[in-house]
Amino acid sequence: MEPHDTFRDALYKMYEENRRVLIPKELYLESMNNLLEASSTTKKTPHHCYLLKKYELLKCGDVDKLIKRRQSSEEDALYFVTIEDTYDTIKRAHLATGRGGRDKMIHEINKKYANITIDSISLFKSMCTVCQRKRKRPTNKGTVVKPILSKDFNSRAQVDLIDMQSMSQGQYKWIMVYQDHLTKFVVLRPPTYKRASEVAYQQFDGTCLPEDETDTSDAPFICFINLFSQDSALVKCRLKQSSQMKACV
Ligand SMILES: [Zn+2]
Repeated sequence: MEPHDTFRDALYKMYEENRRVLIPKELYLESMNNLLEASSTTKKTPHHCYLLKKYELLKCGDVDKLIKRRQSSEEDALYFVTIEDTYDTIKRAHLATGRGGRDKMIHEINKKYANITIDSISLFKSMCTVCQRKRKRPTNKGTVVKPILSKDFNSRAQVDLIDMQSMSQGQYKWIMVYQDHLTKFVVLRPPTYKRASEVAYQQFDGTCLPEDETDTSDAPFICFINLFSQDSALVKCRLKQSSQMKACV
């Protein structure tokens, strides 16, 4: 079933419960005829009086429209809308307000129409597929990134390769930065190729660090290196193979 038809059926159900505000098309046309009759007859029935008190006919070109009775002709006309036309009327207001929410639509509709209820507007809004899609769009707001925790030295590390091809020293064109996750301890290695096997070799070699960091017997020296001229961060490095390191620093 089209949304237009579903909406109309829902409004008819509302009309069954409360007949005071919503107007089916048939009743709208009947009221107009009765109103014409009421204004032309001198013998007015109570129903005629009721209609004359509530409604007024406004000529729009060749078409007569039912509007709310005004106190003076200066007042803006508030149009009555049939149940059949309510969907399109609310849709126009929805688009005119840039797919506005319920309150924006109420404000827009109340300027021009007399009998469009808040329930009808809320129902339309809940049926609008574009607005539903907008609401369901996932957002990353408030997402908390769970930190990665490491318990031991050398149990987790981050490896980056720095491209030194433009400043190569013989066969050494890369600097592999191995950083232990727990201690932030950094080891620099000079792989000669950017191949998985070469990186794996350097990594295994690089992680074979002495258990006791104060024991320098396995590491020739501890040095501070100004890593690159554009990055003045001093990195504390323990080098196992100082000769290889010298080649690329
Ligand atoms: Zn919408």
